[in-house]
Amino acid sequence: MRPKKAQQLFIKFFILALAALLSYSIAYGSFRLKDDNLIHLKFYDVGQGDSIFIKTVHGSYILVDGGPDSRVLNFIVKDIKPGPCYLDLVVLTHPHSDHLYGLNEVLKYCRVGVVLTTEIKAETKVFGKWEELLREATSSGRVKEVSLARSNNDIQLDGILFDVLWPLNESVSEVENENLGSIVFLFKYGDFEALFTGDAEMEVYDEISPDALSDYEIEVLKVPHHGSSDSLNKEFFEKLGPEVSIISVGRNNKYRHPSLSVISFFKANGSTVLRTDEDGTIEVVTDGKGYEVSVER
Ligand SMILES: [Zn+2]
Repeated sequence: MRPKKAQQLFIKFFILALAALLSYSIAYGSFRLKDDNLIHLKFYDVGQGDSIFIKTVHGSYILVDGGPDSRVLNFIVKDIKPGPCYLDLVVLTHPHSDHLYGLNEVLKYCRVGVVLTTEIKAETKVFGKWEELLREATSSGRVKEVSLARSNNDIQLDGILFDVLWPLNESVSEVENENLGSIVFLFKYGDFEALFTGDAEMEVYDEISPDALSDYEIEVLKVPHHGSSDSLNKEFFEKLGPEVSIISVGRNNKYRHPSLSVISFFKANGSTVLRTDEDGTIEVVTDGKGYEVSVER
């Protein structure tokens, strides 16, 4: 952990917490998930990919993408309560391996309530395996339900609203680039709001109606597409104005993510930029009023 940054974060979020009359303590260093009445969002350091684990106030578990390999399982087993693995909601934003591979491992190990996905397919072995595992799991009851993301089909769980912004109401199975079908959703709990973007690129944000976000003040943004410049829709993200922007990215990756232009854009707009390749796993904890952020290193 770089002390200066940690200190800045500490001060920033402590002030926010005070403003919200919160009284819980701020802890750094421990990365086992606490059993408390707060929401924990963990942006796992899975290398070049995305995997975000959420524990709700009632102890439900949500996983958004699974990262590029099986390491997500090592993270999850430390974060769920002892006993058989059950995840209430699993989201596959789009079928690229850096989001999907780990979910195949999760399906072998965990039972799942709802799988939220899209119609978009990929011509890859990893996706073929996903379809096979999902078929088996739904017919055996290990997965209760598969739901297709649509903007008129929001999900509510333990007081959290998952407001799907993309895809819109019609199917997006015909896309030239799978990233354009990536699920974008708003996570809302009380006054805390985070935007999840998968790898959705530039054009997607032009399709999302500005009204869809006008009621929200976004605290945390999962920066799209590992900080690639092809997702930097400046008009959209300027209006969004996230306080913290989190980039999930692998060290020395071959795509040269994240783009310097993306980092400087968010910093210039007053956002604190965190990245898993440098900060390790990043945890956001909220009670729906204030929030705290901590980093692994
Ligand atoms: Zn990706």
